[in-house]
Amino acid sequence: MTPRPHTIFVVDDSRITRAVLRELLEAHGYRVEEAGSGVEARVKIGQVAPDAVLLDWELPDETGPELIKRWAADAELKWIPVLMFTSHKEPERIEYALDAGAVDFVGKPPAPGELEARLRAALRVKALHDELRRLALCDPLTGLYNRRVLHERLRDEFERATRYGNELSVAMADIDFFKRINDGHGHDVGDEVLRQAAELFRSGLRAVDTVARFGGEEFVFILPQVPLAGAVRAMERLRQTGAERPWGTTEHPLKVTFSVGVCALSSCPVARPEELLKAADERLYAAKEGGRDRVVAELPAGRA
Ligand SMILES: [Mg+2]
Repeated sequence: MTPRPHTIFVVDDSRITRAVLRELLEAHGYRVEEAGSGVEARVKIGQVAPDAVLLDWELPDETGPELIKRWAADAELKWIPVLMFTSHKEPERIEYALDAGAVDFVGKPPAPGELEARLRAALRVKALHDELRRLALCDPLTGLYNRRVLHERLRDEFERATRYGNELSVAMADIDFFKRINDGHGHDVGDEVLRQAAELFRSGLRAVDTVARFGGEEFVFILPQVPLAGAVRAMERLRQTGAERPWGTTEHPLKVTFSVGVCALSSCPVARPEELLKAADERLYAAKEGGRDRVVAELPAGRA
């Protein structure tokens, strides 16, 4: 597989500068996206998701450093390296732009090869950053989010839901008899089953939903703006897809089921986000008690 070309976002109000940069960068194998004003840059940056930005100082509606400050305050955009590319080369300008959050400063016109070399350096740092973030946020076996992200997302979604009166559902799933798989077929097969479960869960939910590996064979789902009935339907669909798909490896084909506990803010009013997790866990326990391979949203009488 050839690696995806890096996308460079060129923000400059001069059409000539943009055309020159496009030609230069495309000749080096980069993909180029352009914006000619601050407002265009702000609208496009999220869609383009560039690997680096080349940013002019003077734009018709705002300055480059003002844009950088805006992006630096955004949780996602702040990771994109911005190189100032400007004819303003005074030391105080350089200092100002770097302090605003630019990673580098290249004067117009650049010495031959300078711009490309500085871009490569910025992309190296970006790649390292991306890798560190992935390591910090994801479970290495399944690639799903880890517990740390789960708790952060749950806190954020809980806050948003309670503030705006939105619905929020949380589900917890556990692979049935997972220990038997590990004991009977070996940990490699067990690991493969966990990866397959992760793939099933990831592909079966919306992009705004969060799926995390909670523990060994336990997974948690955060479904913003989904009422209990919708969450039950989503989980039931996953359960059925799981029941029909092949599991394990060619030498160790398996049938795998899982149990799910679901709760929603409206049906289970709680004061703190962790209590939603606890409620989902209690329902998961009830699903196990009830015979596994099922989705449970209501606690049996006497246990509520
Ligand atoms: Mg300009």
